[in-house]
Amino acid sequence: MKKVVMLFLCLLILNLPSQVFSQRKVPILVYHSIDEYKGHGSKELYVTPKNFEKQMMYLRDHGYTLLTFDRWQDINKVNKPIFITFDDGYKNNLHAFSIFQKLRNERFIPTGTIFVISDFIGQSNRLSKSDLKLMADSGVFSIQSHTATHPDLTKMNNYEYELKGSKDIIQKITGKPVIALAYPYGNFNNKVVAETKKYYLFGLTTTPELFTKKGINDELYLLPRIYIKYSTTLDDFAKIVDGK
Ligand SMILES: [Zn+2]
Repeated sequence: MKKVVMLFLCLLILNLPSQVFSQRKVPILVYHSIDEYKGHGSKELYVTPKNFEKQMMYLRDHGYTLLTFDRWQDINKVNKPIFITFDDGYKNNLHAFSIFQKLRNERFIPTGTIFVISDFIGQSNRLSKSDLKLMADSGVFSIQSHTATHPDLTKMNNYEYELKGSKDIIQKITGKPVIALAYPYGNFNNKVVAETKKYYLFGLTTTPELFTKKGINDELYLLPRIYIKYSTTLDDFAKIVDGK
């Protein structure tokens, strides 16, 4: 009997490291419009405020910690780290802002990252300078760059304007550091990564997987993101964030 117990203990100890030190999987989600779909543009780029709220409640009720990229190092410290991002800087992201404020409690402090297109700021369906300032000042949103004009970065050369120019404009509005770039259409190549490294600490793609640290070159400039769509059910959402 003792032998059996010893064998069991040995096996348990041998198996421990792989579980204790297994690499953490971090979801980075990408949304566009948080609004009812009224027939304009691609329906899958919308998530209704009601669905968005249910998704955030799921994160709250399952112990997730919502992070922004200035807290990247915390992915190894907090419980269930996750990043909520929004591309294109739509005015309707104000719905996400009010939902975040509504769900906030002592244990759950929702935060997200909005990737704005700097030349589009203030257009009728986009966030204005004062919206961005308000959102950044609240500490609820980090405002980061999605370039100046939303070009395919693999098919142009005006990096100075698109990467540095947009960063400068956004920093001037919010008074906070711009350290992350979301590549328009998720498109990048070696040249784009090299240019991005001059001005940013992070580059976001739309490779649909959870982030795991692999130790490969430039991995912070190849961060994967998963689309949450109009058709994503709460069940789908749970499977995505739980990595199942
Ligand atoms: Zn975009």
